[in-house]
Amino acid sequence: QAEKQTLGFQTEVKQLLHLMVHALYSNREIFLRELISNASDACDKLRFQAIAHPALLEEDPELRVRISFDEKAGTLTLEDNGIGMDREDVIANLGTIARSGTAEFMKQLTGDQKKDSHLIGQFGVGFYSAFIVADEVTVETRKAGAALADAVRWTSKGDGEFTVESIERAPRGTRITLQLKEDASEFANGWRLRNIIHKYSDHIGLPIQLQKDVEVDSEGEQASAVEWETINKANALWTRSKSDIKEEEYKEFYKHVAHDFEDPLDWSHNKVEGKQEYTSLLYVPKRAPFDLYHREAPRGLKLYVQRVFILDNAEQFLPLYLRFIKGVVDSSDLPLNISREILQQNPQIDSMKTALTKRVLSLLEKMAEDKEKYQGFWKEFGQVLKEGPGEDYANRERIAGLLRFSSTSENEQSVSLADYVSRMKEGQDKIYYLVGESLAQVKSSPHLEVFRKKGIEVLLLTDRIDEWLMSHLNEFDGKSFVDVARGDLDLGALDSEEDKKAQEQASETKKDLLERIKKSLEERVSEVRVSTRLTDSPAVLVIGAGDLGVQMRKILEAAGQ
Ligand code: ADP
Ligand code: MG
Repeated sequence: QAEKQTLGFQTEVKQLLHLMVHALYSNREIFLRELISNASDACDKLRFQAIAHPALLEEDPELRVRISFDEKAGTLTLEDNGIGMDREDVIANLGTIARSGTAEFMKQLTGDQKKDSHLIGQFGVGFYSAFIVADEVTVETRKAGAALADAVRWTSKGDGEFTVESIERAPRGTRITLQLKEDASEFANGWRLRNIIHKYSDHIGLPIQLQKDVEVDSEGEQASAVEWETINKANALWTRSKSDIKEEEYKEFYKHVAHDFEDPLDWSHNKVEGKQEYTSLLYVPKRAPFDLYHREAPRGLKLYVQRVFILDNAEQFLPLYLRFIKGVVDSSDLPLNISREILQQNPQIDSMKTALTKRVLSLLEKMAEDKEKYQGFWKEFGQVLKEGPGEDYANRERIAGLLRFSSTSENEQSVSLADYVSRMKEGQDKIYYLVGESLAQVKSSPHLEVFRKKGIEVLLLTDRIDEWLMSHLNEFDGKSFVDVARGDLDLGALDSEEDKKAQEQASETKKDLLERIKKSLEERVSEVRVSTRLTDSPAVLVIGAGDLGVQMRKILEAAGQ
């Protein structure tokens, strides 16, 4: 075990490393945010485990991160006294990317730096960002509770492989030393570091300390012990009052909790008092993660109880259709020893879920007032929101208000149901829609002829989920939904008396023709009727009022039903 092992990075890591060093060159300082963020997570994890096992804190209970540098040697060191890692952890965490779907995701890389840097943003950068500024990275770490001799050293030049060896190390936690690239020596400078630390860690809830300038004696040797200065506020961001938090701090905190690289689109920060007490800080990301539709993709909020970190990805606080929301919830009254299992069936959690869901819906409603911003949101997450009415019956009308559709008057999915209703014709009391494969296909559908003639707007639904969505929407604003490709189309007051008479007459006079058509089509149709729907086309196929729609049939066929 003690011998030095040389191992290769997983292919995806190699690709990520290569891409990152190039794509993020102009924004190099973010490596420090990532390393501080990891150190803070490591301290959070230890604090949590120490609730049940106080001995893990050893003689060193004050959790903190220390940053020091050596200008002459061109090194930068971050040291935390958090949870640390053992050999297995190190190999898994600093040699692979565990997130499922990564390989697939990497295949999308184009080699075009601009496009790829967007992809990388969606992925998050993390530990490997150290190689943007470092020639060589050394990690020395001892897991909380492990023997001094069971510490590990990991080193890599970021060129495809890394080494691990066992070492002896007294302090608990992780020390990361960067041998800075020649052109990155600016990061071994106290003044520069102080600025970056301020920018990236004011929201972090533990002290981030920077080495104070050391006195040097006449031989150039260090004359006094290193002293540390805490640079950040060291209060968890969500515990501070809203008026005291700058927009930049909200954004930086988002990047920390969401492991995202881009700013969030919007957020909502709330303290709830009364029967239950908790604080939530919920963010809407700007971009959908690549694994939004992967079942195993991480989702959910970071759960804290009285400021102690408990769990990552606590899924129980929001419904599935809001799985893109990131953030934290900090409860004052849940027990500290709460587990995932207990979260599963807890009425207190359920009522928090109900309240947090409403929070998010309000946040989205507010966001929708800014049309352009909301369109950006809709492009990324609209499809997921469409799962809402099926999953969350109680809020279905509210969710319906947040949906956006294409229609006969707008190609883009930008028509809200409220827009539609406000444009309804006199005498119209239904919301008409048509489902199909593509916009081009539905737009040329004969079903629309009569609507064009009468100037009635029809929603055009071409997403896979649309038919399923419509099966869960009964009405909006008191108006029911009507699929124009289904059954007898009753336009009610919109049909003139002449139209109706003409149809009746035609049915009479064309009786024989209808019979003959029906006979020749045999089992393939259930009925043949005269219709006033068409103006140009001679005939149209219609689905029975109670039958499965075309999309649903296809989905079921694909599933082998
Ligand atoms: P992420 O933070 O999104 O999980 P990173 O690439 O930043 O991804 O880090 C990968 C993993 O390495 C972390 O999840 C953690 O398990 C481990 N790790 C990184 N830094 C530390 C640290 N300072 N102490 C303990 N574990 C760490
Ligand atoms: Mg990280």
